[in-house]
Amino acid sequence: MAAVYDLVLKGGELIDPAAGFRAVGDVAFRDGRVAAVGPDLDESNAARALDVSGKLVTPGLVDIHGHYFPHATQMGISADSVCLPNGVTTTVDAGSSGWIQFDAFKEFVIRQEQTRLLALINLSALGMLQQYRDGGYGPSFSISGGPATSVSQEPVGELLDLRYAQVEEAVRCIRDNPGITLGVKVRVDPGVTGLENAGPALELGRKVADDTGSFMMVHAARSPISMARILEHLRPGDIVTHAFHGAENRILDDRGRLRPEALEARDKGIVMDVGAASANFDVEVSRSAIAQGMPPDTISSDVTRPRPARSVVYTLPELMSMFMGLGMPLEEVVAAATRNGAAAIGLPEEVGTLRPGAAGDAAVLEIEPGEFEYADAQGGRVRTDRRLRPTATVKDGSLWEPSRR
Ligand SMILES: [Zn+2]
Repeated sequence: MAAVYDLVLKGGELIDPAAGFRAVGDVAFRDGRVAAVGPDLDESNAARALDVSGKLVTPGLVDIHGHYFPHATQMGISADSVCLPNGVTTTVDAGSSGWIQFDAFKEFVIRQEQTRLLALINLSALGMLQQYRDGGYGPSFSISGGPATSVSQEPVGELLDLRYAQVEEAVRCIRDNPGITLGVKVRVDPGVTGLENAGPALELGRKVADDTGSFMMVHAARSPISMARILEHLRPGDIVTHAFHGAENRILDDRGRLRPEALEARDKGIVMDVGAASANFDVEVSRSAIAQGMPPDTISSDVTRPRPARSVVYTLPELMSMFMGLGMPLEEVVAAATRNGAAAIGLPEEVGTLRPGAAGDAAVLEIEPGEFEYADAQGGRVRTDRRLRPTATVKDGSLWEPSRR
């Protein structure tokens, strides 16, 4: 008797770097999981079959850095509104919530979204506070969408007062929420920690990660301390996000060469993540790092709600297209947005792969030829002659459709 499937994607070009697999074939889903992958699966008993010939089929995309706590944080956006339409089935909120708000974040956001939404809790009890600064997110930003009002130019980051770095409570929050919280997020930034608190904040973040057996994601953009000093606090499995920023203390030295400590860190298993939003990302630094043999391990969006002028936010498929334009082959960008992200968040068997038994997630992408241009917030540009356009998303074995919400 023929196998019974809930859904079969027929005839796509399957790319699954986790399984070392690239070939034209079918993927079948049953009971929310990947049931089979093969050249010619029998769909005669499938509840639904979708012809995806001529398109790419990848594992559901994994975006390890976004901000999904709307209404409570200024930059938060609904995960379902930006992830599922763009092939992203698993994502990580990178420190929007501290331990104080975490119950609300879990009840009102994480449990409500269809996207598989995991969380890094902020080292600061307060969660992520917005920074208003010239050329950054302010000063004329209006939360309500109404007329813009002027706000303070003074940065008021969440770790300017280290009394908010409450290690015991952060540890308890991570322990109390297994399967949801993955670790701790620390932002090392002039506006968040200032200079004085940068090192101590990293030490406290280290303690939270170690006490919980988890990992630390460090925001290292416009960092007040050197990359070498940041990396001293990191262990294999920790993540440097905004690793390709172009400000002071970037991964390139004054002559444009990769700093040896960055390469060493990457080689010992510290994850070099993109986090591409706004001024925290630079296309020329990325291009140079790729040319020198250090492409990003993970491509992440740092997606937020649209910010004011001079800021940039891209979807994950747009970033994958951009990184192809910066010199990464298709299979590598797919790996950086599936397998590597899944490994970085400790779920390499469950997500980011089409292996039978894994979560039933997939992205269907079209390679669209044309002339495309992507810019960073500094005005650096990437031109490409093709881009990836998401056309369908499978989440937990079902075809996601916008009308379902
Ligand atoms: Zn972020």
